[in-house]
Amino acid sequence: MQPAFDFTQWPPLISDKDRNALQYRATSYALAHGLLYLPIGVQPPKLTSAIHAPISLFPTPFPRDQFEQAQRLQSIYNILYSRIAMDIEFLDQTMGTEVGVGQVDEFTGQLWSGWRDLRERGLAQPLHLGLFRSDYLLHQRDSELSLKQVEFNTISSSFGALAQKTAEMHRSLEISTKFYTNSAHLNASNLPPNHSTSGLVEGLAAAHAAYNVDGSRILFVVQTGERNIFDQLWLEYELLEKYSIHVVRRTFDELAHQVKLSEKDFALIIESPDERPVEISTVYYRSGYTPDDFPTQTQYQTRFKLERSKAIKCPSIPLQLAGGKKVQQVLTEPGVLERFLCDEKKYGSQGVFSAQALADLRTSWMEMWPLDLDGDAGVGQARGRALELVLKPQREGGGNNVYKEAIPEFLVSLPPRERPAWIAMELISPPLGLKNYLVRAGSEECVETEVVSELGIFGWSLFGEGKVINEKEAGWLVRTKGKDSNEGGVATGFSVLDSLVLV
Ligand code: ADP
Ligand code: MG
Ligand code: MG
Repeated sequence: MQPAFDFTQWPPLISDKDRNALQYRATSYALAHGLLYLPIGVQPPKLTSAIHAPISLFPTPFPRDQFEQAQRLQSIYNILYSRIAMDIEFLDQTMGTEVGVGQVDEFTGQLWSGWRDLRERGLAQPLHLGLFRSDYLLHQRDSELSLKQVEFNTISSSFGALAQKTAEMHRSLEISTKFYTNSAHLNASNLPPNHSTSGLVEGLAAAHAAYNVDGSRILFVVQTGERNIFDQLWLEYELLEKYSIHVVRRTFDELAHQVKLSEKDFALIIESPDERPVEISTVYYRSGYTPDDFPTQTQYQTRFKLERSKAIKCPSIPLQLAGGKKVQQVLTEPGVLERFLCDEKKYGSQGVFSAQALADLRTSWMEMWPLDLDGDAGVGQARGRALELVLKPQREGGGNNVYKEAIPEFLVSLPPRERPAWIAMELISPPLGLKNYLVRAGSEECVETEVVSELGIFGWSLFGEGKVINEKEAGWLVRTKGKDSNEGGVATGFSVLDSLVLV
């Protein structure tokens, strides 16, 4: 057996002079290859300058077997979440406004209610597209390392394209410089390739092909003021260059005036003042995951109009609801995974999974429970074990969770009727002592700091009418944050883009 990798010995030794030279090579690569962000204040329609995305100077060590395990799990997760999104009864129970989270969480309630009304009026498109990202941290217990899931994202899973560029940057640094030679691990065979751009675009193109109308386009619904625009543009270029599919970018506010549904079959048509009307095959949301994207009822009305249409939605409202933290917690309850993965009557003999597959999923989970568990028991348990927990509401995009010592006070302030909107989750304990150099645009010095790295595995699934038509694993992402920052969003400024060196 190989000796376990010593995470405290990372990154490899490098002199200040060499590190400056490495930083120069890294940032020049990033700027030259479109590993970019918009600076604050620069916005369309005038894009005049860009900065490199925050990056790490070295890739992060990760056990090869755990990486391969995460890749293997992705296909099961693609199918699992597709089936959840098609199980109306389950989503009504879990996320609805009558008995589910939607009773107390206003945002969930709005989405669910809109979807229920549309179901009654009739939805024009049976297919859904998911571009997913399953996020993991390494968990260390004694000397044993395992892979633990942080969350599963079903909407606006970002950084696929920039993650690929970051992996390519680390590969280029390995080939082109001498600065990686102080570690035997840092050679090309240990730097896994990452095809997340083509992987994600293959999913979008599959939906477009299934829609099958000549001249139709894919709509990207984006946020006003999005700084992570290059990550989206790389998907657009790939769609155009590889599949000849054109993209239309619009915000909810622009769409409010521009969306028409055809009378005949609810085809989604965008009518802009200075362009010919275009039919939309697929709606890809890089927006719509937070209540901030819905400041008034108008944005909800636009969302529901898109949902009503014949275009394929990525994600549909039920698929967005399936990605709720509540669903992640309910999946850990006895029998729930069996409902989705072992029902031969519903999914056929080819559609059921082995006991081993279920065990593998469960091994990747931390303990979770709802705060409204058994009267006061859920809250009591959360107070008693606060230092080993994180509390999560039904939100995406970072910055919403409550950690450790902040938990007791938070529980005092939380009205009991809001408890069902929250889950408690055991904290994952990543290996200690791992460091890296983090580089941000505009700061001359990079920072050496103790870090935690989160691995995301992308996947896509095209499904509907009870069946998964096609699904694939679609590359990966690493985000690295300073150890003392609880949250890990690159967009929210707490972390950098990174890649893996398999050990
Ligand atoms: P969001 O949907 O807002 O990204 P996450 O569940 O991913 O919510 O939580 C945000 C961040 O909080 C994660 O990226 C991770 O850094 C940290 N985090 C979440 N859950 C855990 C956990 N169980 N253990 C350790 N850190 C966690
Ligand atoms: Mg997350
Ligand atoms: Mg999320």
